[in-house]
Amino acid sequence: MTTITRDHCLALDQADTLANLRNEFKLPAGTIYLDGNSLGAMPRSSQTRALEVITQEWGNDLIKSWNLAGWFDLPSRLGNLLAPLIGAADNEVVVTDSTSVNLFKALAAGLQIQADKAETAQRKVIVTERSNFPTDIYMAEGLTRWLDRGYILRLVDTPQELATAIDADTALVMLTHVNYRNGYLHDMQAITQHAHQQGALILWDLAHSAGALPVSLNEAGADFAVGCTYKYLNGGPGSPAFIWVAPRHQQAFQHPLSGWWGHASPFAMQPSFEGTPGIRRALCGTQPIVSLAMVECGLEIFAKTSMQALRQKSLALTDLFIQLVEQRCTQHPLELVTPRKHAQRGSQVSFHHQHGYAIMQSLIARGVIGDYREPGIMRFGFTPLYVGFADVWDAVEILRDILDTKDYALNATRHAVT
Ligand SMILES: *Cc1c(COP(=O)(O)O)cnc(C)c1O
Repeated sequence: MTTITRDHCLALDQADTLANLRNEFKLPAGTIYLDGNSLGAMPRSSQTRALEVITQEWGNDLIKSWNLAGWFDLPSRLGNLLAPLIGAADNEVVVTDSTSVNLFKALAAGLQIQADKAETAQRKVIVTERSNFPTDIYMAEGLTRWLDRGYILRLVDTPQELATAIDADTALVMLTHVNYRNGYLHDMQAITQHAHQQGALILWDLAHSAGALPVSLNEAGADFAVGCTYKYLNGGPGSPAFIWVAPRHQQAFQHPLSGWWGHASPFAMQPSFEGTPGIRRALCGTQPIVSLAMVECGLEIFAKTSMQALRQKSLALTDLFIQLVEQRCTQHPLELVTPRKHAQRGSQVSFHHQHGYAIMQSLIARGVIGDYREPGIMRFGFTPLYVGFADVWDAVEILRDILDTKDYALNATRHAVT
């Protein structure tokens, strides 16, 4: 295998047609940001937009802005902007609430749809992965405990087990498209098809795939989806999440958080709930408008490219990172936990090292920002919108130096957020 040099990486940056998209973001000098899978970088336009929302729309136009500035329609308008990135169409997505809350709504509505059909009413199993992001499991636990109708969670340990775990007892399958810890990418089409053959419905969590790779919800025939906007979509810290409901389920979509924003005529102030037809029924109440408005700045950048082009660069970046770590850190016990196969890899690379936390703290101190997840996993996210090939080289060079010189404190105190 040829040895890669920094010049080789610089040449890749020269040839990269997406390289200029980095100018859309404000990134601090001297930082290689490999954590866009956890909190996306700040679009330059977010600064101006935030000021405009606060000073003009709120400060000056006050309550008139609900109509004048389109605040009331924002969840739908942003949903329509986001839809093409996840293979959905107009009026199928709203941006609202958090991913955790949207999981609750979609799980509740999905279980109800199954309970209302004679053929599936007896099904009590929700299938998910033990390695799913904890909040997904916790929300399902909380909902089923509260429903008290005998639902149980079936946690599988490997993706291969899904084939048998999804069976005639399964009401609903809840999976995260790309695993947050090791970056494993599921075959959405095949698993959705299998779930449907077994009579189950499927809810996909796109937290690590929306904005990271092409997603085709309608083509795959999925039933429900949720996801974050503050990760690869660069919406800002804690920006509202999204929820998608397949058009065929919208009429039957009923969730228990039936707040007034999901009402057919919210300003008729009726004493009883009547859900609005369509995706706005997934809304609950008044949204954090300042934060919601920031989501548009992140989404607008995607109009300058395509998910196919981003995917191509993302795979080239993660391939390069894996190759360089394996070429330059050979003396060290780093174990790749991310699949090598493109078809099974998201936009992150994770390596295990027993001192992963301490090493990551050293990397961050030297300007290479990734993050750490138990047990021993160093995560490196590659956002093709603003990460370049020389960045990959430089990050690996710093990692190699930290490992060679053992420049990490084994007794590093844990921060609250790792
Ligand atoms: C990041 C992430 C979440 C976050 O949920 P919040 O409600 O925004 O805290 C949920 N699920 C998955 C799979 C995630 O990766």
